[in-house]
Amino acid sequence: PRAHELKTKAAAQLKSSRDKEHPPPPPNNVVEPPSSDRKDGTVYQVGKLLGKGGFAICYEGRAAGASKRIALKIVKSKMPTKMEQKFQTELQIHSKMRHQNIVQFHRAFTFENCTYLVLELCPNGSLMDMVKRRKGLTEPEVRFYTVQIAGAIKYMHAKGIIHRDLKMGNIFLDKHMNAKIGDFGLAALLLNGKDMQVMRRTTLCGTPNYIAPEILEKGRKGHDHMVDIWSLGIIVFAMLTSKPPFQSATTDEIYRRAKDRDYEWPSSESKTISQEAKDLVATMLQDADMRPDPDTIVSHPFFTSGYMPVGSDINVKLREGAPE
Ligand code: ADP
Repeated sequence: PRAHELKTKAAAQLKSSRDKEHPPPPPNNVVEPPSSDRKDGTVYQVGKLLGKGGFAICYEGRAAGASKRIALKIVKSKMPTKMEQKFQTELQIHSKMRHQNIVQFHRAFTFENCTYLVLELCPNGSLMDMVKRRKGLTEPEVRFYTVQIAGAIKYMHAKGIIHRDLKMGNIFLDKHMNAKIGDFGLAALLLNGKDMQVMRRTTLCGTPNYIAPEILEKGRKGHDHMVDIWSLGIIVFAMLTSKPPFQSATTDEIYRRAKDRDYEWPSSESKTISQEAKDLVATMLQDADMRPDPDTIVSHPFFTSGYMPVGSDINVKLREGAPE
């Protein structure tokens, strides 16, 4: 009991230290200041709380006079430098994305010392919530979501963006239960296929005379973007089994197991996972230069070895077991 008390106390302390970073609850009406494209600004009516992240707090909302609901993601305008940087990257990259499986970014503005992002509303929680609730999805469902996420990755990579933080908790579900990638806080812009940060580090550190040609070569792709394919491999495994493959008590142990590809498919009488599904995951967890690109992923036999739902089917199926 004593250990439990201490744990609860530690958790409470962590929570209150975290709450300091979160903005206070917004007023019922939030006013967007006039801008060049909206001269009279817009009033947003704030609805229910959707969730809290590291620094952001998210509410449902609606522009006065409009019927469509949106999500308002709010952060304090003054944040610790590191978070500020993360948030600026997120804003810059996310605002340039337009894809049916990426949370649509509508606008951003400042109101009462907070920055507001107006985003497409995903009212059905995250993929993680659903997979936990359902204790794993069926293979047809996994086909459906893998195709959607691979499509979004293809789009991002074609635009020179690597997401770098793809996980089930960052994939939200819209009102039709489609997957939408959100949270671009760790994303990076590739220049000529190279990570900009690496580029900057290399170019700033030395004289250009010493830079290898492949770093500057136009059109040459490094393998940096393949980190997103690895993450998709983990996501597919977790959608099938409800747990990520290398889950362990310590971070070191997770890294060790990932390096050794030390994972096991659960054996259960109630649910057998097909050889095609297992093979698909194995291809995505290879060394970076061996990992398949999104087009290669969706042409894997897994996608033709069984039923592949279309949007309207999934909507009905996945709602079963959803909370009221
Ligand atoms: P952070 O960048 O601080 O990690 P998130 O982007 O994870 O914040 O958002 C915090 C929470 O807000 C999420 O866990 C989710 O519950 C909710 N949320 C974020 N974006 C949306 C959205 N577009 N629609 C609905 N809920 C969202």
